Amino acid sequence: MKRVVVLGGGESGVGAAVLAKVKEFEVFLSDSGCLKDNFKAELEKWGIPYEEGGHTKEKIVNADIVIKSPGIPETAPLIVELHSMDKPVISEIEFAGYYDTAKKICITGSNGKTTTTSLIFYLLQNAGLNVGLGGNIGKSYAYQVATEKHDIYVLELSSFQLDGMYDFKADIAVLLNITPDHLDRYDHKMQNYINAKFRITRNMKAEDCFIFCSDDEITMGELNRIIIQAKKLPFTQNGKVLQGAYVEEGRMNVRYGESSFEISVNDLSLEGRHNVYNSMAAAIAGKIMNIHNDTIRKSLMTFQGVEHRLEKVLSVGGVLYINDSKATNVNSTWYALESMTAPTILILGGKDKGNDYSEIAQLVEKKVKAIVCLGVDNTKIHAAFGDKVVADTLSAEDCVKKCAQIAKPGDTVLLSPCCASFDLFKSYEDRGKQFKDAVRKL
Ligand code: ADP
Repeated sequence: MKRVVVLGGGESGVGAAVLAKVKEFEVFLSDSGCLKDNFKAELEKWGIPYEEGGHTKEKIVNADIVIKSPGIPETAPLIVELHSMDKPVISEIEFAGYYDTAKKICITGSNGKTTTTSLIFYLLQNAGLNVGLGGNIGKSYAYQVATEKHDIYVLELSSFQLDGMYDFKADIAVLLNITPDHLDRYDHKMQNYINAKFRITRNMKAEDCFIFCSDDEITMGELNRIIIQAKKLPFTQNGKVLQGAYVEEGRMNVRYGESSFEISVNDLSLEGRHNVYNSMAAAIAGKIMNIHNDTIRKSLMTFQGVEHRLEKVLSVGGVLYINDSKATNVNSTWYALESMTAPTILILGGKDKGNDYSEIAQLVEKKVKAIVCLGVDNTKIHAAFGDKVVADTLSAEDCVKKCAQIAKPGDTVLLSPCCASFDLFKSYEDRGKQFKDAVRKL
């Protein structure tokens, strides 16, 4: 019996272990940290041996296949050692792909993955298809392959997941955009990060489809360098394309083969220029999947968005509060600000991953009345925006109270912090929830 060792016992690791068990491998899971109770219970239910709080090397180096969680960097000593022994180290998605014959629609990009993945899933569900949602979102793909049966999967793939993929093939791949992110994991080389993102096109054949943003310079630069077998379907907000999607006079046009689809940009339920891109990508995927135009239209008009992404919380005293806590880099805050139509009080701050605030300087000048910081170290924000910064706060409640004092009826308060949340909160979800609670208490 072949031995599978899973490193990392989170959602994806436990899913991979269950699938390996179902496929009759000898399985062992090892986590250097603590396992959550629900994951332990799951492993026990399936009779899968595991360890936590450290790795026992002898129980790992005898593996035939190692499945590594995306959170573990390639530079971790154990991974380096496994590579030096020529052990195959793969991702959960790669492993699950071995046992899945369903059609796979895969989405990657620096920003917009969760939104676009959820939108495509919603669209296919509305079309009455038997579709699973997985990857970086919800229940792991491997767990679903082990325990459910779907005809199609819509998978959100981060660059870390793509790193461990070799034989996996997407039928439809979506690359939304590429902006610098996570460079610490890529040896501070942008090209390494670009290569990781482009792994989504690996193994694709002429009958497969690659959907990408032709307004994205980095994507286009790479496409000029490499050869991709799949049909190329660009989406753009600058000019027209013969196949793919474009915007003309406020209408989104989609063309795939002989067939076409149109909708007014004003009818899209998701607001903002970035969401026009996301909606175009989803509509192209819908056309490729041969979904009726009525279903595509209805889906784009009714999709409710995902929590913590430009989420309208409440209007209090004529002031609208918006939770965009997931904006953990400057690019996503740029798009949030771009979509603001009212004078805005902007909440910035948290753990900065090397931000260059000059990218949003013009939009701040044009749209932002005041900045309230929510973070431990706000020096860079003060340096970038000077007098615009009116307060430093250390809790969501304080921050929201401060914003309420400054705001006038008709203003918007926007939490779109450009930063990760770990200085004051457990996660961006925790930050968003605390923000919403504080707004509801006003
Ligand atoms: P991801 O899963 O890639 O992190 P999300 O859909 O969770 O992306 O959105 C993350 C943040 O990026 C949100 O603040 C959202 O408003 C912003 N965003 C969404 N789509 C795009 C896009 N196409 N380009 C730039 N920013 C985007």
